[in-house]
Amino acid sequence: MQITGNLLIGQQSVFGSNGEIKAVNAATGATIEPVFGGATLADLDRACALAWTAFDIYRETSPEVRATFLETIAQNILDIGDDLIERCMIESGLPRARLEGERGRTVGQLRMFADVVRNGDFIGARIDPAQPERKPLPRVDLRLRHIGVGPVAVFGASNFPLAFSVAGGDTASALAAGCPVIAKAHSAHPGTAELVGRAVQKAVKDCGMPEGTFSLLFDSGRDVGQGLVKDERIKAAGFTGSRGGGTALMKLAAARKEPIPVYAEMSSINPVLLFPAALENRAEGIAKAFVQSLVLGAGQFCTNPGLVLAVNGPDLDRFIEAASAALKDTAAQTMLTPGIHKAYEGAVERAASHADVTTAARGLEAKGDNQGESALFVTTAEAFRESHDLQEEIFGASSLIVRCPSLDAMLELIESLEGQLTAALHIDEADYADVRRFLPALERRTGRLLVNGFGTGVEVGHAMVHGGPFPSTADGRSTSVGSLAINRFLRPVSYQDLPDALLPAALQMENPLGLNRRIDGKLECVR
Ligand code: NAP
Repeated sequence: MQITGNLLIGQQSVFGSNGEIKAVNAATGATIEPVFGGATLADLDRACALAWTAFDIYRETSPEVRATFLETIAQNILDIGDDLIERCMIESGLPRARLEGERGRTVGQLRMFADVVRNGDFIGARIDPAQPERKPLPRVDLRLRHIGVGPVAVFGASNFPLAFSVAGGDTASALAAGCPVIAKAHSAHPGTAELVGRAVQKAVKDCGMPEGTFSLLFDSGRDVGQGLVKDERIKAAGFTGSRGGGTALMKLAAARKEPIPVYAEMSSINPVLLFPAALENRAEGIAKAFVQSLVLGAGQFCTNPGLVLAVNGPDLDRFIEAASAALKDTAAQTMLTPGIHKAYEGAVERAASHADVTTAARGLEAKGDNQGESALFVTTAEAFRESHDLQEEIFGASSLIVRCPSLDAMLELIESLEGQLTAALHIDEADYADVRRFLPALERRTGRLLVNGFGTGVEVGHAMVHGGPFPSTADGRSTSVGSLAINRFLRPVSYQDLPDALLPAALQMENPLGLNRRIDGKLECVR
């Protein structure tokens, strides 16, 4: 499939006239053809108008039709073949195996949401039948279903050019909820974005969806991204990226005449807690696994283990020694963009020169441009508490080990942490009593607790939460990964005393969609 540099506005493919976006080879810094045209505000307006017109038609498509649409997107992405992987490798610097896996995840997410749509439980149909005889007052007939919130703006993530970009988790869950999507391509991978965008655009045509169901825009500055969040026809946004970017968009959304939610996934340092018995019994093994998780994908995962907490002593010394030995042999890896590489180098330099931080180990020296060398630092609980900057995410393969004077001090540090996506607990049975004391504080601060593992490798399923209190996400009541992600783009509507002929199919007496429904509070399962 040829990459043209064009915007995809509904079924149109047009070259944007508002400046240029140049794709860059992540490994060499060289620009790659073609040039991408930035969208004008008129392009943005047209995409929003089409999405708004599409909304009422698209959201009433039957579960079967919408599920088939999602499956068609998945198949169209696969049909691009190796061109997609090759382009994405060049633009992101990520290796083939990782991107083939990520494509599998992207396609799997779309198919999972197709199943969710077919199953119909997301509609959450409820019927409280009328009780005309009820005393002292008769009861009205009340019925409830969930509908899509409206057109959704999706900001592609630099670190997941497939699974969290144009047809990634945010797009799949919004489309599943019945919401048209306008994707704002990440400027780090515009060619990948266009290829995937064309797969979605073709699926819209193949399945006879209204053309405004999907558009893809490139932004040569910030006006289009910000204009999307400000446009009154956009009713929610999904974002993965920096804390600065996420909070800027949240502020714009909150300042609108009609404020809207921005589901921003931003920064998290994902504490790893080493409990005493586990540390005594397995310091070296945990250290090796920790370093493998830390350097995975050059550390450019939102769930990267950026903080290790443990009680100071000889067992922690063993852990630090083993982790340092493992990290020293890790190769420097190409990072996603020169900007991200520069930000990483700057943050590592600041950590290394911090008065209360010692460098335990650095990975092997970079052999090319834009490669990040892994880093491991050590500090004290006191210094960590005093210096807020030590709590900030370093996006890359860098982690900080904190020597805590006691378990109580470790628990106190947990209480001082900002919201996190994950917390990983390394424990043996002898630690259970201590772990119980930590659980309430950890639950308050994190979206996912896990035992004897690391947060990297996020399973896409029904019980996954990839979210957490601010600043890990903008809204800790939701998840961006897994089937529950659909809830972000739904809202309930109640129908009182509507005649059957005027009710949506989901709520009609005959149950033509064959949905499981809650009748008078009791779940009636028909499938
Ligand atoms: P980013 O700078 O926040 O950009 C993400 C997306 O939002 C891009 O499409 C960007 O547009 C857009 N954007 C950013 N700020 C905006 C603003 N003020 N107004 C309108 N649009 C805005 O993130 P990034 O480029 O992926 O990486 C930069 C840093 O973000 C990294 O160094 C890292 O610290 C952090 N990051 C964290 C995670 C995580 O999961 N925790 C993931 C990725 C990145 P452009 O495409 O035009 O730049």
